[in-house]
Amino acid sequence: MSASLAQWLALAQLRGVPRLDAQRLAAHQLGRTREWVIAHDDARLGARDAAALDALLLRRAAGTPLAYLVGRREFHGLDLVVSADVLVPRPETELLVDWALERLAPMRAADPTQVPDVVDLGTGSGAVALAVAHAAPWVHMTATDASAAALDVAGRNAMRLALPLECVAGNWWQPLAGRCFALALANPPYVAHADPHLQTLAHEPLQALAAGPDGLDALRCIVAGAPAHLAPAAWLLLEHGFDQGDAVRRLLGAAGFQSIETRHDLAGVPRCTGGRWPG
Ligand code: GLN
Repeated sequence: MSASLAQWLALAQLRGVPRLDAQRLAAHQLGRTREWVIAHDDARLGARDAAALDALLLRRAAGTPLAYLVGRREFHGLDLVVSADVLVPRPETELLVDWALERLAPMRAADPTQVPDVVDLGTGSGAVALAVAHAAPWVHMTATDASAAALDVAGRNAMRLALPLECVAGNWWQPLAGRCFALALANPPYVAHADPHLQTLAHEPLQALAAGPDGLDALRCIVAGAPAHLAPAAWLLLEHGFDQGDAVRRLLGAAGFQSIETRHDLAGVPRCTGGRWPG
């Protein structure tokens, strides 16, 4: 007799796959909700579903992020499509979005008719850009990425969510010659090339994770290019590694930014640093 869902969930646990992940894989394969899977674990699996689920289980046990297997990830209340071409959006990155919204609110209050230009550099799935565009629909949102495949995912997400997003191909500021923004944000790669942590992230694009010997190459490039692209009193907000707060504050200070501040994520880790461009 074919296996039941409960038996397959038990097998998943034996393979070291957390119950929640297994339930989500089953829901994805069966085209049901996780609630349905929980309520119907006596259901029998057809041969095709059983084979597909076993294959998914093997990939999950080998470390493929759940988001790639189900093709989706929730971020800041948005349901995003993700593929292996983009970094899986992380919950700690919501801090960057919330900080951007906090900086945008007074601009709106000061002049409800203005349409601030906001840019997300290295947008990947579009998570940050679309979360800001969703919560502050009165801004003009631009997103850049050096990866055409990533930009394609961002564009698909914008379409699915019906959020306007100007997608521009290129590295950091490079495709934005002559353009100025009221707010710029980025979750760039910031892991050092030799960091052993990278091994646990082997399924995600290295280009989105690693940035030179100290992990600061992309952050340095973004800070260096910012003055040419920021309007007076504009904000630059950057995500970085747990131990890079000092370095990013120094970079911003040396470039002439003011009101420099580092914020901590929900785990209490220094996660984002930003400053105001005096103009
Ligand atoms: N926060 C990610 C991690 O270390 C890295 C993301 C990034 O480099 N932007 O898991």
